[in-house]
Amino acid sequence: MSECVFCKIAGGEIPAEFVYKDDKVFVIRDVNPQAPTHLLIVPVQHIVSAAEVDDPSLWSLLMGRAMEVARGMGLDGKRDDNGFRLVINTGIQGGQTVPHLHLHLLSGRNFGWPPG
Ligand code: AMP
Ligand code: ZN
Repeated sequence: MSECVFCKIAGGEIPAEFVYKDDKVFVIRDVNPQAPTHLLIVPVQHIVSAAEVDDPSLWSLLMGRAMEVARGMGLDGKRDDNGFRLVINTGIQGGQTVPHLHLHLLSGRNFGWPPG
């Protein structure tokens, strides 16, 4: 997967601002943030999209890490100013631009619904 930007980040070939990293998952700041805080939770393993996940324990790993990071930032959704949004764009119609599974964690502003 030598052309994949997230595989290159995982391998240290291109730089990123890491918030967390272990051998299975990493969390980086999005290079083009859509909110004051915009993080990406990414499995090290190259999986193209949410639709390609075979092992449901991967969801536990990714969601668990997302919530750990959110909790660490004081985000619990209990106050007017500390909610957040988790997003997984999937496929072209879903708005996915990088074909390596990732969760977006966005916070720091009010988000509209329905999404654009
Ligand atoms: P998506 O459109 O859901 O596939 O999300 C891909 C995200 O990756 C976008 O929000 C991009 O801004 C972000 N992105 C692309 N390249 C990089 C990079 N080198 N470092 C950090 N984030 C990136
Ligand atoms: Zn990849």
